[in-house]
Amino acid sequence: EFIQALTLPGTKDEKDDEEKLSETQKKRLTLEETRRSLPIFPFKEDLIQAVKDHQVLIIDGETGSGKTTQIPQYLYDAGFTKDKKKIGCTQPRRVAAMSVAARVAEEMSVKLGNEVGYSIRFEDCTSERTIIKYMTDGTLHREFLSEPDLQSYSVMIIDEAHERTLHTDILFGLVKDIARFRPDLKLLISSATLDAQKFSDFFDEAPIFRIRGRCFPVDIYYTKAPEADYIDACVVSILQIHATQSLGDILVFLTGQEEIETCQELLQERVRRLGSKIKELIILPVYSNLPSDMQAKIFLPTPPGARKVVLATNIAETSLTIDNIIYVIDPGFCKQNNFNSRTGMESLIVVPISKASANQRAGRAGRVAAGKCFRLYTAWAYQHELEENTIPEIQRINLGNAVLTLKALGINDLVHFDFLDPPPHETLVLALEQLYALGALNHHGELTKLGRRMAEFPVDPMMGKMLLASEKYKCSEEILTISAMLSVNGAIFYRPKDKIIHADTARKNFFAVGGDHLTLMNVYNQWAETDFSTQWCYENFIQHRSMKRARDVREQLAGLMERVEIELVSNPTETANIRKAITAGYFYHVARLSKGGHYKTVKHQQTVTIHPNSSMFEDLPRWVLYHELVFTTKEFMRTVSEIESKWLLEVAPHYYKPRELEDSTNKKMPKQVGKSRAELGDH
Ligand code: ADP
Ligand code: MG
Repeated sequence: EFIQALTLPGTKDEKDDEEKLSETQKKRLTLEETRRSLPIFPFKEDLIQAVKDHQVLIIDGETGSGKTTQIPQYLYDAGFTKDKKKIGCTQPRRVAAMSVAARVAEEMSVKLGNEVGYSIRFEDCTSERTIIKYMTDGTLHREFLSEPDLQSYSVMIIDEAHERTLHTDILFGLVKDIARFRPDLKLLISSATLDAQKFSDFFDEAPIFRIRGRCFPVDIYYTKAPEADYIDACVVSILQIHATQSLGDILVFLTGQEEIETCQELLQERVRRLGSKIKELIILPVYSNLPSDMQAKIFLPTPPGARKVVLATNIAETSLTIDNIIYVIDPGFCKQNNFNSRTGMESLIVVPISKASANQRAGRAGRVAAGKCFRLYTAWAYQHELEENTIPEIQRINLGNAVLTLKALGINDLVHFDFLDPPPHETLVLALEQLYALGALNHHGELTKLGRRMAEFPVDPMMGKMLLASEKYKCSEEILTISAMLSVNGAIFYRPKDKIIHADTARKNFFAVGGDHLTLMNVYNQWAETDFSTQWCYENFIQHRSMKRARDVREQLAGLMERVEIELVSNPTETANIRKAITAGYFYHVARLSKGGHYKTVKHQQTVTIHPNSSMFEDLPRWVLYHELVFTTKEFMRTVSEIESKWLLEVAPHYYKPRELEDSTNKKMPKQVGKSRAELGDH
């Protein structure tokens, strides 16, 4: 008994719920019936008229009302694509763009990629025929580079605007600007929460079109005391609901793939032990790296008598709507990219969600019938510890990439760019400084030739610089491979619970002298030698799907290398050169060995530690370069390679001073002779 019922107004008794639920379950609607049953359907004609009457329209409607899947189809029906111009619709998440496009293609009975398609980073599933195009906000941001007036579009929908991702926020400024000189372009800003007025104010008092959705009451339950282990609490709650509550599917919000897999394993284990004592429980994960055929499963109707439990990331908060969810379990956390503008360090951390998020999550339970939301935190914590709203990304992440793209668009004065909420001044300055240090900007803040070439790549400026530096170090083939592998990093090695030792041995066999970057290259090259064999992946505990994606990414990047006229050459024996090219891009991410096997970052003396999965974990080289920081129990460096400090002066002369790179530990070396390596750092 861990959940404490709150007495809330509108609490319905169980019987009532059951009636409503069986009603909805009885109805196996056809696609067309489903479309007609969506809350947006009665508004179709009014909406089309409003789009005809106004250039900019703010759409405000509950999640699941049909905004994303229906509006483009309505506008297509109304003839907005007659002159061969497209309807575009942006999504903050790749998964949403793909899944929604697939759904709309199905509803329109066309093949995905023909009339209806999607375009996400490194993957373009559109054709000449495409008239409804879903894409990530980042993709549209980049499209401005090749088509600054969006001439091929008649309608642009900036969807899920409330998510306030960095790219969406920048798009607001860009589309507002082009709307002024393209009066024929229709602009729709679509959002799920109460931000509509703010969007309207920003877009010169654009009218707000409201779609009233269905909304059943949702009872909220809190735990009496904080939960020490929320994964375990989730498993317990799921089983409690399954055992004691009437039928209806469960949606659980976790922070990422790892958590979802852990939860799934625990749950499967306990369900197995309970055997036939319980009704059938169908466990389905959904996160962005999940293959799309697996993702599609969450939308299949639950067989009669069974219950479905969907273990999801934030993606199910507003981007994807799963029908028939009656119960929501909300541990109250999400994964967030955070950036410290003082130290310039970025890391992915698990943070408490905001009240607005918590309410969105609860709302998922009330779409088809009265629902229940179990919050795995206390009512006090909700009241006192959660922020009202999530801080927009633009105010908390590194702006390097965004600033580079804006500069490439010819927007030089970023301080006066039309932001909905401006980024903090320090963050903007830091991004400019970083681009200057990378050589992408000159000291007037103007884009250099190098910067222009960097902007061609849809990657972080550091990776862009690394790719370009491979020309000088004559190792472009190797750097291409490493870049591609880094883009699927974290999903390469497979570690099943019952074969951990085998998996770890297999992983160690790939370890390369010099560190993890070369290890990644090693994995790729060996796989390529087997002619990209699936069996080989299986035998070596490598995730084939990630490798295939790496191959696709590599191909895309190779095409871009050709565009910036970098010859593809290979020099696999010169690993110092490969590591120099990496350093030329990632010299910001450098740390020096300090006490107790810990490291300190060079510029800001931040304490960081090599991740136990790294091949460098036991080596503890004096100078290391890392790809990213992840904060779990402490600040871990993930994907680490050994470098030499003198390379830093070679690749980043205006960032590092020789004084900063003096090796004080060198002088003390003789005293340490005879000690173990770990102790060596402990001077
Ligand atoms: P909104 O954008 O207003 O949140 P959507 O247009 O995304 O609403 O969803 C409308 C309906 O379409 C929902 O009931 C949802 O279940 C259904 N739907 C959306 N995507 C898919 C999909 N890939 N497969 C099956 N149903 C889907
Ligand atoms: Mg939507």
